[in-house]
Amino acid sequence: MTKKPAESHQATLHLKPGKERSLLRRHPWIYANAIDRVRGNPASGQTVRVVSAEGRFLAHAAYSPASSIRARAWSFAESEVIDAGWMGARVHEAVARREALRARTTAIRLVFGEADRLPGLVADRYADQLVVQFLAAGVEFWRDALVEALVKATGCTLVYERSDAAARQREGLPSQEGALRGEVPEPVRVIEDGVHYTVDVVGGHKTGFYIDQRDNRQMVALEAAGRRVLNCFCYTGGFSLAARHAGATEVLSIDSSADALALAAAHEPLNGFNEPSTWMQANVFDALKALAAEGRQFDLIVLDPPKFAPSVQHLDRASRAYKDINMRALRLLAPEGLLFTFSCSGAVSVDLFQKIVAGAVFDAGVDAQLLHRLSAGTDHPMAMTHPEGEYLKGLLLRRM
Ligand code: SAH
Repeated sequence: MTKKPAESHQATLHLKPGKERSLLRRHPWIYANAIDRVRGNPASGQTVRVVSAEGRFLAHAAYSPASSIRARAWSFAESEVIDAGWMGARVHEAVARREALRARTTAIRLVFGEADRLPGLVADRYADQLVVQFLAAGVEFWRDALVEALVKATGCTLVYERSDAAARQREGLPSQEGALRGEVPEPVRVIEDGVHYTVDVVGGHKTGFYIDQRDNRQMVALEAAGRRVLNCFCYTGGFSLAARHAGATEVLSIDSSADALALAAAHEPLNGFNEPSTWMQANVFDALKALAAEGRQFDLIVLDPPKFAPSVQHLDRASRAYKDINMRALRLLAPEGLLFTFSCSGAVSVDLFQKIVAGAVFDAGVDAQLLHRLSAGTDHPMAMTHPEGEYLKGLLLRRM
């Protein structure tokens, strides 16, 4: 266990005048340009005291010397001691919050960064396998305590690290992958709302599966019976399998990745579907044009593309791309057909996404109703003080 350094030895970040405002509102990020001076010589990830220009205590935070987000707050309470015990308590709370989900699924995000007061930590559970990502200097510093706590809170003895996200580079941390407990895992079988999937935690996207789409898969399942379904950007077939399980008459799934499609197709026999559905390897932009040229129609379409806007600099291009696929999908919908359309770009706000899709409805020359706003599942919450944590948004439209 790391001892809390005596206060006098603990490094302090002194903010510039006026820069305390966001911290007073409990926003957890301290940008480099808000800092007037650093007293002491904190190492990467070490806990620092953050004080206002007047010397008023604001937060205990993790120091990230290489990042423009120079520190991330652990706590705004001066009396709290940031140590291994504190980390363990946050992990236990986070795991307990997800307990009810275990009735539905064996694929759960156990810890989601800032929303669980552990900035930069992602921990997912697939059956008995844990997958962790340390995406900020603070959680990197406390990694042993955090892994220990996750093992203790879940009883899982298998832990794999996938700290390979771009966020690591911005923290000046090298990409790091490998088994922390147990062996390098084979693909893991999970079951969600009655549907079986295998998850490639070593080579798959993110930690292997789009856990965040659980509730939206369920929504698709509620609507899919007797419908002709088109699933664009299908990856390993999450929405496709949910739709088939629910009784869709036809499912066409499109992705550009042969590896993803191979895993997706293997999910069918796993679920006892003896007739394979159609898995098309294609660029969705081209495929939507080709389907229109063939005069095809669908009753339910899912559009869940990759992040078109990795940052605000990409907004213009991303907006055009979202509008284009939504317009083309709307034209392929039969009257009364449903469109489940998503954006996982943090840079695209809920408002902007709705505007883009409204533009697509207009350009498609159709009328549509908004039935539901969609978001990530309850294991991917957003702290109300940290709106940057919101990324996945979707709309359910009905073509009239
Ligand atoms: N809907 C999926 C997740 C989508 S991830 C799920 O619920 O699991 C985005 C997917 O889009 C990836 O599988 C990637 O291979 C694919 N992709 C990216 N660009 C594409 C394009 N232009 N055409 C087709 N697929 C694309």
